[in-house]
Amino acid sequence: PPTETAPFPFDNSYARLPANFYARVEPTPVAEPWLIKLNRPLAEELGLDVEALERDGAAIFSGNKVPEGAEPLAMAYAGHQFGTFVPQLGDGRAILLGEVIDRHGRRRDIQLKGSGQTPYSRRGDGRAALGPVLREYIVSEAMHALGVPTTRALAATVTGQPVYREEILPGAVFTRVAASHVRVGTFQFFAARGDMESVRTLADHVIGRHYPELMDDEKPYLALLRTVAARQAALIARWLNIGFIHGVMNTDNMTVSGETIDFGPCAFVDSYDPKTVFSSIDQFGRYAYANQPAIGQWNLARLAETLVTLFDPVADTAVNLANDALTEYGTIFQKHWLDGMRRKIGLSTAEDGDLELIQALLMLMHKGKADFTLTFRRLAASAEDGAADAELAELFEERKGLAPWLEDWRRRLAREGQQPRERAQAMRSVNPAFIPRNHRVEQAIDAAVQDADFSLFEALLDVTSRPYEDQPERAAYAAPPKPGEEVMQTFC
Ligand code: AMP
Ligand code: MG
Ligand code: MG
Repeated sequence: PPTETAPFPFDNSYARLPANFYARVEPTPVAEPWLIKLNRPLAEELGLDVEALERDGAAIFSGNKVPEGAEPLAMAYAGHQFGTFVPQLGDGRAILLGEVIDRHGRRRDIQLKGSGQTPYSRRGDGRAALGPVLREYIVSEAMHALGVPTTRALAATVTGQPVYREEILPGAVFTRVAASHVRVGTFQFFAARGDMESVRTLADHVIGRHYPELMDDEKPYLALLRTVAARQAALIARWLNIGFIHGVMNTDNMTVSGETIDFGPCAFVDSYDPKTVFSSIDQFGRYAYANQPAIGQWNLARLAETLVTLFDPVADTAVNLANDALTEYGTIFQKHWLDGMRRKIGLSTAEDGDLELIQALLMLMHKGKADFTLTFRRLAASAEDGAADAELAELFEERKGLAPWLEDWRRRLAREGQQPRERAQAMRSVNPAFIPRNHRVEQAIDAAVQDADFSLFEALLDVTSRPYEDQPERAAYAAPPKPGEEVMQTFC
């Protein structure tokens, strides 16, 4: 047979781990694959053969053609789902093709999602519907453009086959790129079986892959916990700073790399309320906007439980060390969050009283049902020109207290040397004009699912790829939902 160039220079370290870490399984071919989108810049960053992917993308990214060098496998993991432990989850509809080393020397996973059943599918069909595939594409790429650590979208294909949910929907496959797919739940999988040798093997793999600087640490497994905790603290602070609600922070949806993963019922806050929940499956608000930092800590406590026996031969000492690491998470989170909020309101120095100033604004936003994203974007204009206050005030249904707050804020700003223009620019570089607003995501999905029209999907991808730039011709994308356009619930 003629030799082809291999589009992926695979080097598969996970496939070299012991056999109990995964199940080898091939993607299930689909009827009529069609490539919706290939992320060319990402493909180039990964060092892939972009021409080959343009040619063969439909077959490769639908799972119909397994590229040379791939060692397809489904990863085993467990997890706490809404607080309840499930000892056996695993990739039920995802298949890791393999890993590549990108242009920056970073190892990246390439995974198909929706590529057919695996030994971990339980009662699931192993498939994904087009809507959630497009949502993950849009939101994960937007998160990246916003500067938030996240898994990426390499490609999306339609399968030409229906999937059966509450209704019949077009099927699709999503190709995800991640620093790795190791989750808190991966550690739980082995710990739940009392298989501490595998926990140690996994911890060594993660250290070697993500945190090689910890290899020489006196207590490498404690250092691992502390480092993962610090990454998650920074990540979740970023989510709060941009109004992101993950929606399903189960322990199987929390990476040890510190990347955002699993864009199911995720959403962005429109009018600000810390209790905001969109997910249809989150009945009690466990994963509400403001609950995310506490849930992060809860999940890290589950990770700590799997590692604790590796910390120190003395059990009491080991538990104390784990508790200290979890306390440290809280401190680090608070610091990142406060630093981020300071930048959002235009402060470049720290003073006592900043926290109160920020909380007072959030309270007014809550009372006034002000749009989270636009409030901060317009505050940048107000930092430059008091005449812009009127436009800011328009965002508040209830304006009482806003004028006095602006006075307090200006008094605080005056104690810094920064020029108004510089400050406004700094504020615009952290307060996005464009986020993938929930109603826009829904409109893009509806057009694709109902009319096979991907133009809104493309437009939304384009506008959210430059979130911090004013794009006057796209002003409509910055606007909150009009009455009747609001998304009340999201589904996975
Ligand atoms: P998630 O809520 O997306 O984190 O998924 C939780 C678990 O359910 C994971 O183990 C998934 O692999 C599995 N799962 C979700 N959807 C399907 C499906 N359609 N077929 C098989 N497994 C699925
Ligand atoms: Mg998941
Ligand atoms: Mg999911």
